[in-house]
Amino acid sequence: MTLTGGCQCGAIRFAVEKPGGSGMCHCRMCQKAFGSFYAAMVTAPGLKWTRGEPKWFQSSNLVRRGFCPDCGTPIAYDAGEALEIAVAVFDDPEQVAPTIQVNSNDKLSFVDELHNLPTRPAAESPEFFASLVSYQHPDHDTEGWVPHTGQEQGNTHE
Ligand SMILES: [Zn+2]
Repeated sequence: MTLTGGCQCGAIRFAVEKPGGSGMCHCRMCQKAFGSFYAAMVTAPGLKWTRGEPKWFQSSNLVRRGFCPDCGTPIAYDAGEALEIAVAVFDDPEQVAPTIQVNSNDKLSFVDELHNLPTRPAAESPEFFASLVSYQHPDHDTEGWVPHTGQEQGNTHE
């Protein structure tokens, strides 16, 4: 089973033959690195970068974190053993669903209640979505892809 994935802009793509364990980390460093409440990552032994490579930030003496220098997508975690890859940057994250949580002592207090939040219907801003043109790389490998800089456009959230 070869799984593929990449960053939001498409400058970085990868392939993994046999993904390993998948888990969620609640530590403060993962919150910050992902700009989110926790990080979900899967071990990716033998990973091959098939387009581009991440830029690395040394977040501690033991760990460096890889991200796309063009679009900023958090992609990789490297503690010197098997590389780990963010679950959500796989083309099909369902294939690498997390099966364990770690570092729960840093877990944000509201995380366990997120699924109880009220849900706003998606159709509340139909004009926005009707006018939206996505510059996100599609969820499959492509022959060629020119990352969109977005500089000629206003900011959108997609
Ligand atoms: Zn990118």
